[in-house]
Amino acid sequence: MKAEYKLQIERSKSNRKKVKVKLDSLKTKASEAVDNHIHQLHDRAFENIDCLQCANCCKTTSPIFEQADIDRISKSIKLPVGKFITSYLQMDEDGDFVLQSAPCAFLNTDNTCKIYDVRPKACAEYPHTNRKKMKEILDITFENAMVCPAVSFITDRIKLD
Ligand code: SF4
Ligand code: SF4
Repeated sequence: MKAEYKLQIERSKSNRKKVKVKLDSLKTKASEAVDNHIHQLHDRAFENIDCLQCANCCKTTSPIFEQADIDRISKSIKLPVGKFITSYLQMDEDGDFVLQSAPCAFLNTDNTCKIYDVRPKACAEYPHTNRKKMKEILDITFENAMVCPAVSFITDRIKLD
């Protein structure tokens, strides 16, 4: 991972309480205002951050694999669904299918994804900072600030009056 991305995440990790306070400050704001604010910061973050120089999400966390993801990916890589599950997935404590190991088995050494066109919906939507109703996922956003330099950049700059 690019050094400046690592530094960005480290800032969040060593300021966990501040990050939490900033995100909590959004709970009393209007949902639309929160979405607009975060979405603007999301666009700013990704003006400068290149996922191909990072891939920290793919290296350290797992997406949830929904049944539709499993069916689509299995078909694409020509593996029976059962074989795909036993080869790559495990069930977590919430009963969701997640990767057996990190980094993701589908991550190439140049940080591209072997199954990019059929990747899980959760991968396509990560880090979820451009979705609607951001107030519903402030806790997830907090955790993602410790993983994703873009989310860390965003939480650093939250300031909504
Ligand atoms: S989404 Fe975030 S953690 Fe994942 S590769 Fe892009 S910048 Fe890195
Ligand atoms: S499936 Fe692709 S995008 Fe998703 S975690 Fe694995 S390498 Fe990353």
